[in-house]
Formats: sequence, C-alpha cells, structure tokens
Amino acid sequence: MRIALFGDIHANHEALEAVLADASAQNCTDYICMGDIVGYNADPVACLEVVRKMGCPVVKGNHDEDASGSHSLDSMNPVAAAALEWTRRQLDEEQRLWLRRLRMVRQIEDFTVVHSTLDQPNNWNYVTNRFDAMSNFSYQFTQVCFHGHTHVPRVYVKTDKVQEVPAESIAIEEGSKYFINVGSVGQPRDGDWRACYAIYDLSSKLVTFRRIEYDIDATQRKILAAGLPPMLAERLAEGR
Ligand code: ZN
Repeated sequence: MRIALFGDIHANHEALEAVLADASAQNCTDYICMGDIVGYNADPVACLEVVRKMGCPVVKGNHDEDASGSHSLDSMNPVAAAALEWTRRQLDEEQRLWLRRLRMVRQIEDFTVVHSTLDQPNNWNYVTNRFDAMSNFSYQFTQVCFHGHTHVPRVYVKTDKVQEVPAESIAIEEGSKYFINVGSVGQPRDGDWRACYAIYDLSSKLVTFRRIEYDIDATQRKILAAGLPPMLAERLAEGR
C-alpha cells in the first residue's frame, strides 16, 4: 500500500492535478486528503469536485469550515476573509453541506490524520516548534499522525524527548512516534513555490516528500480574473 497524503489545496486546481498525476506515476494505491480544499485561490468548485469524486478519506480544515458556514469572518485577516466571502458565493448548498460534514480526525490503517492537532482539533492550533508538537503527542495514540495547516512540511519525532528532524525521507522505526506535516499542495509557505505532498509506503515503512512543478501562471491569471486580492497571486510565486 502506497498512500498519497495531500492537503491545503486551497482551490489551486493546477497544483492539485499536477500532484495527482505525480502520485499516480509514483504508483500510489490510496489517497488521503488533509483538508483546506478551498480558500485563497480561484478554483474552489473544481477542487472540491475532484476530491469528492475520488471518494478518499478527507479531514476538515479551517477554511473548509469557514467557507461552508455563514458566521462572521471579521476576526480573520482581511485577505483570507475576502477570499472566503468570495468562495462562499461560488459553492452551492450541497457543496457547503459536504464540507460541513467532513470529520475532524480519522484513523486509517494504523495511523491518524488531522488538519491541525489532535489535542484540540477544533482550535486550529499551528505547530511551528517542538513544544507545540509535544501538546499533540499527549493525545496521539497511534505511532504515526499526519497533519497540515501551516503549509510547511515538518517532521517531529518523539522518543524520550521530542525533536524536529529535516522533512526528507523518514523511516518509521519501532519505539518512536511521528507527527508529520505533509506540506501544502496549493499555497506552500516554506519558500519553495512547488506543490508539496507526502507518500507513506506501508510495506517499507518509509515516508517521502514530493515537490511538483505546475502551471503557476494559469493559477495566478485565474486569481486576478476572479477579482481576488492580487497578493494571493504574488505569494504563490514566492512560496510564502
Ligand atoms: Zn491551509
């Protein structure tokens, strides 16, 4: 079983298709979506329908929750709020309902997936250091948990202590626990513009990260044509 873990797509259809083509070429047999299908970019309906038709496990992201609700977005940063208001107008009620019904946490095989953290999945905490990761590990009862949300691929390993190790190829070893951020398909923020996702090979117990080029010019043109904030197009090229 080779599982592609992909999330934080954020309505970037070109990046999503490039990642799925790569996962297929990499002989992935199964797919798991880490949430934040919509928000920021200009193709929420296309991305939602692609993921929905895949029929794979999906966990809910904060943008999925905000785009499918009708609550005020006033406390949010203005650019994200503008994109979410626009996204709400693109989705029909059936699509909003599908997003609202997504689960926060799922266990698949012997591992767990969540968009943000297991300690407070509804609070959308950001894990940016090993202390944040420690809170998650207190509630992680499987050896491996995958997450997203910060748009930065990261790997935390818990043995007698919690450490961050480079997000490269990771061998899952007995006696250690792993909390792994799979990065972002549609809006990476680690300075690399290419779409990011991870593959977990269950037989070799190996997690690998993939970076995939896509037609970023097309994505940027669509953002501007939709009347979304231009900085959303600019940030894609900078990977931030
Ligand atoms: Zn996100």
